[in-house]
Amino acid sequence: MKPVVAHDLPHVAAEVAEVARATLYVVATPIGNLADISLRALGILRAVAVVAAEDTRVTRRLLDHYGITARLIAVHEHNEQRAAGDVLELLAGGAAVALVSDAGTPGISDPGARLVAQVRAAGHAVQPVPGANAAVAAVSASGFLSPHFLFFGFLPARGAARRETLAALAPLPYTLVFYEAPHRVAACVADLQELLGDARRVLLARELTKLFEETHVCTLGEAAAWLAASAHRGKGEFVLVVEGAAAQPPGAADLDNTLTALLAELPLKQAVALAAKITGGNRNDLYARALALKRDG
Ligand code: SAM
Repeated sequence: MKPVVAHDLPHVAAEVAEVARATLYVVATPIGNLADISLRALGILRAVAVVAAEDTRVTRRLLDHYGITARLIAVHEHNEQRAAGDVLELLAGGAAVALVSDAGTPGISDPGARLVAQVRAAGHAVQPVPGANAAVAAVSASGFLSPHFLFFGFLPARGAARRETLAALAPLPYTLVFYEAPHRVAACVADLQELLGDARRVLLARELTKLFEETHVCTLGEAAAWLAASAHRGKGEFVLVVEGAAAQPPGAADLDNTLTALLAELPLKQAVALAAKITGGNRNDLYARALALKRDG
């Protein structure tokens, strides 16, 4: 794929947005392909007084690509507290400031939340400028039907802690979304297989939007072999999207609780019909159980 570059889009490179006074704009930037930035984001980066960046060298490359000569200051994990003071001073003076991370959406497994919290606490406006995010991109390409997903981000790096976390996530009926470093992805997949079983499907999304992008769906039982099939799969950035636990059929205790609650409000026949609808249980079985509950209760 040929990347789109700034000189292909002269009108985009020249775009300048109106920015509000004393506002922090939280601006999403590309996760690989530099063309994945919104027109509004480019306009805001061009118009603000200062861009607060996780790594000024990384952001300078993006800004240079679009011919933007903004003033940059560093706001990263280790100086977020201190750098917040500089940003608050700028905002207090009425300036507009943009916050960006190295890639994707700030504050999503990236620095930014502390700065945003302090800006809010000081009473200044905060506006998101949405765009690329690796988790959402991966989920959108999974084809998994659950309407709910749980974004977990990075699992603990140590094996024991990772397995403990996965044991807690295993019963949840939601698609699970993980970020993983390339040197840990094989170990992570092995733990996913051990704790979530072989059968669930997983999307392995590697190097999204980049030259060597790959997205592959298989079962957890097949994932280790897919990773091992090519040496370059040990490198690059990964998102893992795993299907949630299948909904369990209600146990006997749940059936009894449902029937008891319905019998307290409705005649027997209606209670059984409704219980069958709610639980998907067999109507005759439920009728027999309802009679027993009435008799014993
Ligand atoms: N803030 C970013 C976002 O909005 O997605 C995430 C930053 S986090 C520090 C970096 C992790 O995101 C990587 O280790 C990887 O799991 C995931 N990631 C980022 N870019 C990616 C890409 N192009 N392809 C696959 N995963 C990516």
